[in-house]
Amino acid sequence: MIELTEAIELVERTAVPLPPRRQRIADALGLALAAPVVADVDSPPWDRAMMDGFAVRSAEVAAASGTVELDVVVDLAAGDVTALVIPPGGCGRIMTGAPIPSGADAVVPIESAIDGTAGAHAGGRVRLREPRFRPGQHVGRRGAAFRAGSVVLPVGARLTPAAVGLAAEAGATHVLAAARPRVSIVSTGSELVPPDAVPAHGQTRNSNGPMLAAAVAALAAEAIPLGIAADRPEAIRAAVAQGLAADILVFSGGVSAGDLDLVPAIFADCGVERVFHKVRLKPGKPVWFGAVSRGAGQPRTLVFGLPGNPASSLVCFELFVRPALAILAGRPRHEWHLPREHGVLTAAARSAPDRPVYLPCRLARRPGAIGVEPLPWTGSSDLVGLAAADGLLVLPAGGAGEVGTPVEVRAFAWARAEATT
Ligand code: AMP
Ligand code: MG
Repeated sequence: MIELTEAIELVERTAVPLPPRRQRIADALGLALAAPVVADVDSPPWDRAMMDGFAVRSAEVAAASGTVELDVVVDLAAGDVTALVIPPGGCGRIMTGAPIPSGADAVVPIESAIDGTAGAHAGGRVRLREPRFRPGQHVGRRGAAFRAGSVVLPVGARLTPAAVGLAAEAGATHVLAAARPRVSIVSTGSELVPPDAVPAHGQTRNSNGPMLAAAVAALAAEAIPLGIAADRPEAIRAAVAQGLAADILVFSGGVSAGDLDLVPAIFADCGVERVFHKVRLKPGKPVWFGAVSRGAGQPRTLVFGLPGNPASSLVCFELFVRPALAILAGRPRHEWHLPREHGVLTAAARSAPDRPVYLPCRLARRPGAIGVEPLPWTGSSDLVGLAAADGLLVLPAGGAGEVGTPVEVRAFAWARAEATT
């Protein structure tokens, strides 16, 4: 049995970033850029109307200080261009997104047309009242967003939906981004049945499979669910063989000390080199970690044997699999672990005498302090408490937390996002 900090360090030292890949932007959602995105054009590429209205000569409208009457000399919808120059006393009817014609340098919105002249087209006249006119108003200037040749997304930037849009605007249909780690997931246990079955006496629904696949997807990695393997050596061996094709193989169940906890021995049989087995931690003590070669020049497949109890499985995923995934995906160090925060207990909590404990808790974010409320929890098989939690309360071995005790928490990313919106 090793200490938790040592176990986490061993995971961090064993995981190696996957080589980045050139990929389509739509496929790179959630991944970190391995090369900057450089714009191939100015944006906007030309001076652009930002409102529906009339393209005017600023000096004339400013001089009129109030109302001005102009000849409409051209109609411009988005996509239209004209070689015509707006002459003194003239304007162009223009729709949002059209290039500002030469001569003009501002837009008066259509709502500012008076006397029923809002519908004026080329050949007609329009009367505009714009008492708070600003020269150059409602024009998106060429290059105001970015210039050709400039870096619009730096190395390490995460491809969010907005970043995907920005890359497209900058002409980058493909980017060099971190590879998306592939994670195969196997649930072991002869008692397990798929979630769509009603469990008969003695049977348990496989909740870990969907839960771990969701945890993988939440980190922008690819989950490969391999279903259930019974507690028989051939079944487990076949699942290991299939799962080792991925970058990470996650097993749940079968790693404790029971009669049918066959997984560690079969990992060893299959050539997986053990890095650690058993960590001073509650829940999650039986967790197993190792790695196996995939051949010369290839990064090794990382192998995790998580305890079968669902809450233990998820806590171990967050503590050990999360950093491995983050490292493979080229994430910066500060994104490897659940964010650490400090709060104050609002109800008493109890640790284990010999191990640090991770307990589901609610966080009450108040200015200057976080109230930490341990949730009712029946133990490592209880997902009800965990599903209601904003994070995990960390208590050191032997610690009994009275109300008011300062404590460390690990906030779930999704709960944080909710709390701050
Ligand atoms: P094990 O780690 O295999 O000894 O399993 C510990 C407990 O977790 C047992 O009660 C199992 O039935 C339960 N368990 C194991 N795997 C799963 C799973 N995939 N989904 C839900 N419960 C599980
Ligand atoms: Mg089992």
